[in-house]
Amino acid sequence: MQYKVNKLQIVSYFAGLKELNLFQKFELRFERREMNHLKDTFKHKGMRKNLISQLQEKGIKSKEILDAFESIPRHFFLDLAFEEQAYSNMAFQIGSGQTISHPYTVAFQSELLEIQKGDKVLEIGTGSGFQTCILCALGAKVFSIERHRDLHLKAKQIIHFFNFNPKLFFGDGYQGNQSYAPYDKILVTCGAPEIPTELKKQLKVGGIMVIPVGEGIEQKMLKIKKLSDYEFNLREFGTFKFVPMLERTVK
Ligand code: SAH
Repeated sequence: MQYKVNKLQIVSYFAGLKELNLFQKFELRFERREMNHLKDTFKHKGMRKNLISQLQEKGIKSKEILDAFESIPRHFFLDLAFEEQAYSNMAFQIGSGQTISHPYTVAFQSELLEIQKGDKVLEIGTGSGFQTCILCALGAKVFSIERHRDLHLKAKQIIHFFNFNPKLFFGDGYQGNQSYAPYDKILVTCGAPEIPTELKKQLKVGGIMVIPVGEGIEQKMLKIKKLSDYEFNLREFGTFKFVPMLERTVK
């Protein structure tokens, strides 16, 4: 996979430093720092292999999902200071009081979704954009909604480094996105107090929704199959802890 890292800026940093004003120097230093953050070294690849073994030990079987984890550097989605933690199996702060999901949770939800190449997938809670990229790497056409404007914009930027083209929306996931409905799959990555009616409507008959449901700090992971316009089959897959699904947007 190719990442768009701009080498020209490194060259101009060394070549022209003396002629630049203070602001430009700061900008270039900042960009160099950003570029370091987007470097994928042997050390990162090694840590990623380790994480993949842990996911396998915890029961993730899908080769496509494990390959997707290998191809998407998770540390790109965290601040430079936290890159060691990027490959430990933990959730992590991404700003605005939100977290990037636990790698196992991302892998587990992806497995429950049974993604096929070309599936139209609606994701609620773009967050860092990591899960969005995993879905794209699995060959899905992704539509993702985030209620925090700053997270939506940040995710947009980082997703640009990959050659993926998901449609990213700033909005309230409770409403789904009627314009592109129906969806083959719907993934909710925040804890919902109940299954949002609009999302049930926007799921294709025969489609699958994966959603953590519960009012408190813990939620039951539900896999919901839509059998007909009015019939749904629900199965439970253990207890998880997500940040809450909240109504309305935050600017
Ligand atoms: N998939 C993300 C998980 C982020 S945590 C990742 O891998 O990083 C869940 C996200 O859901 C948060 O960013 C939160 O702001 C968002 N969220 C909560 N309620 C929402 C809603 N009603 N609509 C859209 N996004 C919502």
